[in-house]
Order: sequence, then C-alpha cells, then structure tokens
Amino acid sequence: MRIGFGYDVHRLVNGRELILGGVKIPFERGLAGHSDADVVTHAIIDALLGAAGAGDIGRHFPDTDPCYKGISSLVMLSRVGDLIVRRGFQVANIDAVIVAQAPKLAGYLPAMEELIARALGVAKEKVNVKATTTEGLGFAGAGEGMAAYAVASLQEG
Ligand code: MG
Repeated sequence: MRIGFGYDVHRLVNGRELILGGVKIPFERGLAGHSDADVVTHAIIDALLGAAGAGDIGRHFPDTDPCYKGISSLVMLSRVGDLIVRRGFQVANIDAVIVAQAPKLAGYLPAMEELIARALGVAKEKVNVKATTTEGLGFAGAGEGMAAYAVASLQEG
C-alpha cells in the first residue's frame, strides 16, 4: 500500500467558469489557471502521482506548454490513471476536501465523485469528495481563492 498527498490553490476571478471535480458549477466567478483550474482534480492528480512516486502535476503537464491551455483536468487525471496502471498499481481509494467559502458545494459532490471515478476507470465507491468553508478566515474565507487537499492510496498489482 502506498499513500500520496496533494494540495492546490487557485485564485477566484471574474469571467471564468467554475469547474470542480469536472462539474460546472453556477457561480459569479471561476478559478484562474492555464487549464480549467479544477483545483480539486489537481490536488487528486498530485496525490496519485505522489503515491506512485512519479513527481507532480507540473512535471507531467507544464503550464508553459500551450497544448495544456484550457484542457479539462479530467483528461489529465485520466492520463495519470493510465500512468499508475503502467507502473503496476491500482487505486485503492481517494479522499479529497475542497476549501471554499461559497458557493455551497454539497449538492455537487456525488457528481464530482462519479466523474473522477470514471476518468480513472475505478468504482465510484473508491472516490470521496468533501467540502468545507474556513468560517470566513484566510484567503478562502475572503473569497480570494479556493484550495483543495487530497490523499490517495494505491495497491500494488
Ligand atoms: Mg492547479
């Protein structure tokens, strides 16, 4: 059994769609970034890469590479899923938490779990996504950005 951890932050800006766990969420602002800036999917990618001992998201998908501009983070996740299988691992489970003051995310979490599981080709029971506020504290509480944390465990074989 191998464990990996991931963390990511993106800034909230006007004029961008809000995509979290592959789900488009109605909100007046979205996350800024080179890709679709799906902060929770990025944290999960880093957790999976960490568990596999395979570096980080910036190494596999450099934000200086124009081919990743606007890319769906689920596509990146799917490629990381392939990498894990090539290295002889399978996903045991993933657990993630999104840190956002608004909007309310609880109703979207099952759809995120479904899309993340589908991108990885694993059962949706292996993926858990949670959300929390920071009670108004810090950059997430001020609505300046969102953060996400994730852990992933992989089984060999
Ligand atoms: Mg990111």
